Amino acid sequence: MAILLSTKASAMQAWRDALLAIAPDLDIRMFPEAGNPEEIEAAVCWNSHDMAELRRYPNLKLLVSMGAGVDHLLRAPGPPPGVPVARLKDERLTTGMGEWVLLNVLRFHRQDAEYRAQQAARIWRELPAPDTAQRRVGILGLGQLGTHAAGLLRMVGFPVLGWTRAPRDIPGVTCFAGADGLRAMLTQTDILVCLLPLTPETRGIINRDTLALLPPGAFVMNSGRGGHVVADDLLAALDCGHIAGAALDVFEPEPLPPEHRFWGHEKVLVWPHASSITIPSSAAPQVVENIRRMRQGRPLINLVDFSAGY
Ligand code: NAP
Repeated sequence: MAILLSTKASAMQAWRDALLAIAPDLDIRMFPEAGNPEEIEAAVCWNSHDMAELRRYPNLKLLVSMGAGVDHLLRAPGPPPGVPVARLKDERLTTGMGEWVLLNVLRFHRQDAEYRAQQAARIWRELPAPDTAQRRVGILGLGQLGTHAAGLLRMVGFPVLGWTRAPRDIPGVTCFAGADGLRAMLTQTDILVCLLPLTPETRGIINRDTLALLPPGAFVMNSGRGGHVVADDLLAALDCGHIAGAALDVFEPEPLPPEHRFWGHEKVLVWPHASSITIPSSAAPQVVENIRRMRQGRPLINLVDFSAGY
């Protein structure tokens, strides 16, 4: 039996090598060269793969998504019915995201944009010293990524707040849950960081109403999915000065169209969905582990909870 591998052409060979380095006996077929469809027992796919295509493989018993987010799998028609779906929970993804959050929180906190503007004008002027203990960072989503980022921010000395679906108790983090919790957290958040999965409940969560709840001069960061931000509402909040700056790694659509206002906006830092990049050699062990578990009929790891949508 064989494994179907499907990702962008530039990553295909690295994934193949990484999987074979751990399990040299795997029969890996690189899409679209799947061979006999009846021989495919597992598919390891990134977001470009058409879920309808997977219905060609009658013996498919496992689908692995090559990323932490699974919103692309939930688009119609969704994964083949009855096929369990696993996602990646990878240390390199988590640490990469933590670095991105820390980098941009510190940029905003330490007035980097202002100092660069002064440098461009050759102005030697000290700005008021920022107080770390007074800069509250609110994180939407305290999962794998959010919890790690919260720990880093705590270590630097920021007061950290976090919002989840189910109430959580994380030492050193002021936790909120549900709709009332969201409103309460936003009113106390100076830098908002979105690390949510995109679900029907979280789509458009950063909008005119929620932005208005943030204190004047707050910053917004999004590295969840582009669909979390209502772009026109964020631009309006930036233009009127209520929001002081934004760091955005994800957009709808991607790539961000060249004419989009985010590209040239002086208060917006644009990243090309690169805050945290999957490294095949780091992620491959858990993929092989799930293939082995599937073959041995043992419980799979990192399964997606489709009832929750993430
Ligand atoms: P995760 O471990 O599943 O955590 C998701 C968190 O979001 C959980 O804390 C969950 O609450 C919370 N949440 C979900 N729906 C919610 C709702 N309706 N209301 C309040 N909280 C809600 O996911 P993760 O591994 O941290 O990844 C999060 C997302 O980051 C991914 O889904 C993906 O979209 C994005 N991502 C982006 C990049 C990038 O390069 N930009 C890379 C990797 C991941 P509970 O704790 O109550 O379950």
